[in-house]
Amino acid sequence: GHKHARAGRQLMQRLTLDDGTLAAVAERGAAMHALVRELFPLPRSITGAGLRATVRRLSAVVPLEITEVPSGTAAFDWTVPDEWAIDEAYIEDAEGRRIVDLAASNLHVVGYSMPVDAVFTLQELKTHLHSMPEHPDWIPYRTAYYAPTWGFCLADRVLRSLPEGRYRAVIRSRCAPGSLTLAEHLHAGATPDEVLVFAHNCHPSLANDNLSGLVVATHLADWLRGRQTRYSYRFVFAPATIGSITWLSRQGAALGKIRHGLVLSLLGGPGAFHYKKSRNGSCPIDRTAPRVLRAAYPDSRVLEFSPWGYDERQFGSPGISLPMGRLTRTPNGEFPEYHTSADNPDFLSGGQLGEAWLACLRIFAALESDRRYVNLAPRGEPQLGRRGLYRTTGGHRQVPERQLALLWVLSESDGTVSLEDIAERAGLPLALISEAAGDLASAGLLAEAP
Ligand code: ZN
Repeated sequence: GHKHARAGRQLMQRLTLDDGTLAAVAERGAAMHALVRELFPLPRSITGAGLRATVRRLSAVVPLEITEVPSGTAAFDWTVPDEWAIDEAYIEDAEGRRIVDLAASNLHVVGYSMPVDAVFTLQELKTHLHSMPEHPDWIPYRTAYYAPTWGFCLADRVLRSLPEGRYRAVIRSRCAPGSLTLAEHLHAGATPDEVLVFAHNCHPSLANDNLSGLVVATHLADWLRGRQTRYSYRFVFAPATIGSITWLSRQGAALGKIRHGLVLSLLGGPGAFHYKKSRNGSCPIDRTAPRVLRAAYPDSRVLEFSPWGYDERQFGSPGISLPMGRLTRTPNGEFPEYHTSADNPDFLSGGQLGEAWLACLRIFAALESDRRYVNLAPRGEPQLGRRGLYRTTGGHRQVPERQLALLWVLSESDGTVSLEDIAERAGLPLALISEAAGDLASAGLLAEAP
């Protein structure tokens, strides 16, 4: 309680975002953007060699603990699937010209496609082709993880140019027992209380979704190394849905250590920061993150929870219910490049990645220094007059600010609201709110939240 919170504040002074850190943001941004370019061509999926290669590359930035969970392992209501591998895929016309080739883009093949090697009429083939007429030069991203099918994705302009005739479709893929790769990094703080950071890593050759989340999280972990913090920080990288569910299913009581958390995605493209609240909606991070973002980025927005989007719906499911929000820039599905070949490294900038990295650090810094209290006399208003905290005559038209501060602190202190949040809500200086909390604590009416 008290002791750890004090230690946290002292440690936090060393985590302060000084000029040196700010100057390093541009450098970090450039390093993150370079890492995105390096990771972009790896053939990621929810299992397999591309996923492992991605995790291996990230582990060169920060050490990662890798867990291979065998296919067939039960994970809550799910089962870890067989591992998918693909060597080659193309469509060729009657003259043997390759119309579509996996070698040109990982997006050309529907993820988890079954093997095929057969000749089709154009009409037959078209039932296995996906394009986007509204963006005729872009390749869409499609998967078929849990359905036995196959398909190709291609630019609509190419699809429309195909003459009638016969086409050979070849996909040399295998789906066989293997494993699903989980990766995590723990930064140990002064307390076992954890901040959980999650980023999904299953998308092939898409940059904002979610190489941006991976590189920002990895560089946050790197920055924390060797720094003293109050919280421990756990970074988890796993495939979307099946990966987060598999990870959660293996944690048991360890989930009880998680005090705050963020799902990170879509951080390198244009657009304002969007904080999406936890399912609970009134967790400490649901107050701290919006407060920090409002102060530093006036155009930032706060979204209510919905059971759609990324892995926040797994972390927020009723039987898990972790205090985890989500940070993105423009959210999923709200920009045209989303899930297409236009979400490539050129869609991102080092500046935007760097700013997102800094925004996360600002949220961490606020969590580290936030002080939350519990009102120890919460039934009605405690009698302040007899404790010398309140003037003894009633009926005055104006409440002195100091007394107002006492009432605000008592009213808000249910253990989830920080003094910073109370100051903002009350429209009173933080110093005054802090002083009121100190007086109430001395009078035995307030205790620092556990
Ligand atoms: Zn996605």
